[in-house]
Amino acid sequence: MRIGFGYDNHRLIANRPLMVGGIEIPSPLGEDAHSDGDVLIHAIIDALLGAMAMGDIGSHFPPSDERYRNIDSKILLAETMNETRADIIHLDATVILEKIKLRKHIEDIRKNLAKLLNLDISRISVKAKTHEGVDATGRNEAVEAYAVVLLENE
Ligand code: MG
Repeated sequence: MRIGFGYDNHRLIANRPLMVGGIEIPSPLGEDAHSDGDVLIHAIIDALLGAMAMGDIGSHFPPSDERYRNIDSKILLAETMNETRADIIHLDATVILEKIKLRKHIEDIRKNLAKLLNLDISRISVKAKTHEGVDATGRNEAVEAYAVVLLENE
């Protein structure tokens, strides 16, 4: 058994989609990023790489690489799953957004992650929090995500 932890954040800006777990959330602001900026998928990728002690998302998919400009993070997740070759047992994640309400989208995000990770939805937890008005995330200037995965590998 292996455990992995991942964290990501992105600045929120106008005229960008807000991607969370492969779902586009209706929002006036979205992630400023080289890729599509899916903060939750990026945290999950770092958790998977962390569990396998295989470095981090920046070393696998460098932002300086033009191939990854505006890339769909679902593709990066699929590549990571291929590289780690691990069976995920459980995923627990928290997304922090101040003004944009995620709660009514949580089930869609869980369903989508279940499909992407080939995992039963009962093994996928996604929680939503605010930052209580504190710091940049609390001023609605950024979005953050934390993820923990438990893996089994042969
Ligand atoms: Mg990121």
